Amino acid sequence: MNTHELTEQFKQKYGDGAHPVRLFQAPGRVNLIGEHIDYNGGYVLPAALEFGTTLVIRARDDDELHFASTNFEYEAVVPVKDAGKQKTGEWVDYPVGVIVELKEKGIELSSGYDLLFHGEIPNGAGLSSSASIEVVTAYTLLSLERQATDTVEIALLSQRAENRYVGVNCGIMDQFAVANGAKDHAILLMCDTLEYKKVPFKTGNYKLIIGNTNKRRGLVDSAYNERRTQCVEALDILRKELPSLEYLAQLTEEQFKELEGRIGDETVRRRARHVVEENARVLASVEALGSNDLVTFGQLMNASHDSLRDLYEVSCKELDVMVEEARRIQGTLGSRMTGAGFGGCTVSLVHEGDVDEFVKQVGEAYRTRTGLEASFYVCGVGDGVNELKGDM
Ligand code: ADP
Ligand code: MG
Repeated sequence: MNTHELTEQFKQKYGDGAHPVRLFQAPGRVNLIGEHIDYNGGYVLPAALEFGTTLVIRARDDDELHFASTNFEYEAVVPVKDAGKQKTGEWVDYPVGVIVELKEKGIELSSGYDLLFHGEIPNGAGLSSSASIEVVTAYTLLSLERQATDTVEIALLSQRAENRYVGVNCGIMDQFAVANGAKDHAILLMCDTLEYKKVPFKTGNYKLIIGNTNKRRGLVDSAYNERRTQCVEALDILRKELPSLEYLAQLTEEQFKELEGRIGDETVRRRARHVVEENARVLASVEALGSNDLVTFGQLMNASHDSLRDLYEVSCKELDVMVEEARRIQGTLGSRMTGAGFGGCTVSLVHEGDVDEFVKQVGEAYRTRTGLEASFYVCGVGDGVNELKGDM
């Protein structure tokens, strides 16, 4: 739906009003490389996608907040002063959670608003539609209330909304990428310190293809906790040699080679090796992308997947099959799982001339080999949250 159609839909729903209609948009995101190293003091490298969540909004003359979404039937009307008093378990908890966090910061809405959300991001597919709706809500309301729109602050506030109001214990990467993304750039981010840098990522004739395995994830939490425990175990051993070591990802590959023999447990050693090498791959990716070397970047993506499969053991048959089939396509430079693993999505970098072939071939082979139907999303790298100059 274009901005004109969306604005028309808004007017049909809410009628005429005295105040201007404005449109804002926040993207979805994908992590390009840097998996399972955020909690080990390593870097992630997410990018904003070209599709996301649009919010059409207009101030009201009363104090009622009217919420609607083109993606869900559920609608709600809440007086500003009551926002956050009653959790609904419905999608409106996401924007209401943001309003609660704005209130926490001392920012009270000065009037009611009519809101219409329109999402192009599949929900629950791992492309972070939740971060997108939170960030677009925060940015929009701050803009309409004539408050500062610091995108780092907006990311943190949105994460708090999801953690505290919605009750999902997510990290900062998603909101950060959605708020701070930029066209033709990826974001190098240290999740602990929020140290970050926008790095060039010109995809040129290449597209990102995100493939959803549509596999229901099992065992994610217990496996995740086990990996974290194993990393702490490795860190404790290595600290005896290097007392100043705070995180595994601070080790260079050379340091690790010298010290890895101290880790007696072979599995724990492999986990630690993944962390050290994956962090090095993220930094090598930044170098490669800086010189527009997509071929090298593709190889790093491949190496990342292989390490997640063999050393960290968080892949699964479905992810492996999809990646394997993706790499058979001639125009594929690299393919890897993205996200925590055990299901979810893959991300591949594919020449635009081979996109149709990719979707057809990989989709068919995936169906034959797993019995599951994949979904594919083809996109480039887009901007972070911003106001759209729509046709009003
Ligand atoms: P994801 O991986 O997409 O972030 P989540 O389960 O974290 O999956 O968040 C998805 C939820 O976010 C949806 O079920 C809905 O409650 C909310 N949401 C996301 N986008 C929209 C939208 N456009 N309109 C209404 N609710 C949305
Ligand atoms: Mg989410």
